[in-house]
Amino acid sequence: MIVVAADFNMGAMENKGLNIFNTSCVLANPATTTDQAFQRVEAVVAHEYFHNWSGNRVTCRDWFQLSLKEGFTVYRDAEFSADMGSRTVKRVEDVSFLRTQQFAEDAGPMAHPVRPDSFMEISNFYTLTIYEKGAEVVRMIRELIGQDNFRKGSDLYFARHDGQAVTTEDFVLAMEEVSGVDLTQFRRWYTQAGTPQLQVTGHYDAVAQTYELLVRQSCPPTPDQAYKDPFHIPLRMGLLDAAGKDIALVLQGESAGSSVLTERVLDVTKPIQSFVFTGINSKPVPSLLRGFSAPVKLQFNYTREELLFLMTRDTDGFNRWNAAQELSVGVIQELLANHQQGIALTVNDGLVNAFGEVLQSAISDARSNNQLDQAMLAQLLVLPSEAYLSELSAEIDVDGIHQVREFVANTMAAAHAAAFAELYTLCQSHGPYAADAGSIAKRALKNLCLSYLMRQADATWLDACYQQYLTAENMTDVDAALRQLVNSRYPEAESLRDQALADFYNRWKHESLVVNQWFTVQAIASRPGTLEQVKALMHHEAFDMRNPNKVRSLISAFCNSNPVNFHHISGGAYAFLADQVIALNMSNPQIASRLLTPLTRWKKYNPTRQRLMKAQLERVAAQPELSKDVFEVVSKSLK
Ligand SMILES: [Zn+2]
Repeated sequence: MIVVAADFNMGAMENKGLNIFNTSCVLANPATTTDQAFQRVEAVVAHEYFHNWSGNRVTCRDWFQLSLKEGFTVYRDAEFSADMGSRTVKRVEDVSFLRTQQFAEDAGPMAHPVRPDSFMEISNFYTLTIYEKGAEVVRMIRELIGQDNFRKGSDLYFARHDGQAVTTEDFVLAMEEVSGVDLTQFRRWYTQAGTPQLQVTGHYDAVAQTYELLVRQSCPPTPDQAYKDPFHIPLRMGLLDAAGKDIALVLQGESAGSSVLTERVLDVTKPIQSFVFTGINSKPVPSLLRGFSAPVKLQFNYTREELLFLMTRDTDGFNRWNAAQELSVGVIQELLANHQQGIALTVNDGLVNAFGEVLQSAISDARSNNQLDQAMLAQLLVLPSEAYLSELSAEIDVDGIHQVREFVANTMAAAHAAAFAELYTLCQSHGPYAADAGSIAKRALKNLCLSYLMRQADATWLDACYQQYLTAENMTDVDAALRQLVNSRYPEAESLRDQALADFYNRWKHESLVVNQWFTVQAIASRPGTLEQVKALMHHEAFDMRNPNKVRSLISAFCNSNPVNFHHISGGAYAFLADQVIALNMSNPQIASRLLTPLTRWKKYNPTRQRLMKAQLERVAAQPELSKDVFEVVSKSLK
C-alpha cells in the first residue's frame, strides 16, 4: 500500500493504509542509483516500516510530541542500517551530519527544544533537532539504562500504549519503570535547546596511582532560554595504557570486584564533577565520549601525539575516526591562523605521516581482501568538511577555510601519490555490481583515491578518470568520475568535463532522478562562476521550479553545499537565494522556508557578509504577502 510521487516535499510519510514515498526515496536500480542512494532507500523504507509501531499503532497526542515518533524511529532506522552495513561507519556518518547541520541549527535563530513549546507553522518543525537530536536523546536513554533494559522498555511502551496517542513523558516513564533508573534530570533534554559543552581535564597522580577526570558542563543561551540547568549526560569512556590496552576502571569508593569493567558510562549531572579512578599505575590516555554517547561538544587538550595514538590504538572505532578528525582540525585551524596573518603554509609532518600509515594499512587490507575495514579506512582519509570547520569557528572565514583545506588535501595528494595510485588499482573490481557492505566500502575507498589522484596536474589521471566515467558499469563509479571532472581546476579538464556532462545528460535524460544528480554535480562545484552556471541551468529543459526534487538538487545543493560560491563576497548568491524564496513563497511555502536556512546563519559571518545576508532577509520580510512558513523563519532570523 505504497504510492510513489515524483512531486513531493518530504522524503516519505508513513500514513497508515497508504505510505507516500518520494521517488528519490524508493526507486533504485544498479544502473541509475549510487551506493549512497541505495543506502538511503534502504534506510527510508526501514524508517516508514518501523513507523508502523513507533508512529502509527502508538502515535503522538499533539504536534509538540513530534519527536516521540520521529526521534525514536530515526534511532531505529539508524540501528537497522548499522546492522546492514558497517556499524562504525554508520555512526561516523550520522555524527558528521549532526555535528555540522543540527549543531548549527541549535546555535541559530531557529533553535528549539526536542519538544518545542510553541510554533507558528508546524511544517517548520520537521527539523534536524526533532529528528536527529531526538534520535540522540533516545540513544542516550539506552546508554543510561543499558541495552537489555532499553529493549524491555520499548516492549513495555508498545504493549501499554498500543492504539493510543501519547507523549514523550509516557516513553520516558516506560524506560524508568523497567530499569529503575531515575530520568528526572534527563528530561531536560526534551525542554532545553542548545548544544551542551563538556570541558574535560585529566590529572594523573603517580604517588596515589589515581587518575582524575574533571568534567565541566555548560550550555550557551538560545532564543527564549538564557539560562540552562545542567543536563544528565552519559559519558562513555575508557582509559588506555601505553600499549593501547583498556585499563580496568574502578572509581574511588568502589570495591574492585571480580567483574571489573574496562569501559564505563559516567553519569555527568553537575556543572563541575570529578571522577577519580584508582589503581592506575601509569599515566593513561583517556578515550572519551565513545560512540558519541551524547550530542555534546567535548573539549580535552590532547597533544598531537595522543591523538595519533588514539587514532591507531583506540579500541572504539568511532573514537579512532574522531581522533583523526581532531588531529586534522587542529592542523587546519593552526594553518588558518597562519594564512590569516600571511604566513607561508606547511602541513605538520605528523598528519602527513598519519595519512601514510592509514594508506599502508588500507593497501595491505585490500591485498588480503579484508573488506569491512575498508569502509572505516576510507573515512579516516577524509579531511574534516568545510561545513564542520565552519561550525567550529566563532566567525566563519569562508575563503580561508576553503583555501587551507584545499592546501592540506593537495599536500596529502602529492605526498602519497604512489600509495593512492596503488590503492586505486587494488580496489578495482571486475565482478557484477553488488550493493553489499563490502563492495560499497571498496568503491568508496577507490573513489576517494581517485579524488586525491585528480588533485595532481597529471594527464594520466585525468585520462584514467575519464575512462572510469566512460566504462564504469554502475552509477557510483560514473558519478564519482563525473564529480572529479567537474571539480577539476586544470585547464586540460575543461573539454573532458563538457563532453562528460553532455554525454551524461543525453544518456540519462529520461531518468528524472539521475538528471537531479546531474544538476547537483554542477551546483556543488567549487570552481568560480558556479552561480552563473546554476542560473543558466534553471532555464534548462529538465529544470522545473514546481518540482521540489529539482529545486533541492540545484538551488538547495548550491546554497547549502557550496560555501565558497554561495558566500562570495559580492553577495550575488544571497540575492539569488532571496529571489528563489520570494518566487516559491506562495506556490510552495514549505520549500521556500526551508530554502532560507543558510541565510538564517548570518550572525556567524564577517560584518560585510552579515550586512549583505541581513539585507536579503529584510527584502524577503518586506514582501507584501508572506506565507506563515516563511514569515516565521524570516522574523525569528531578524530578531
Ligand atoms: Zn518519520
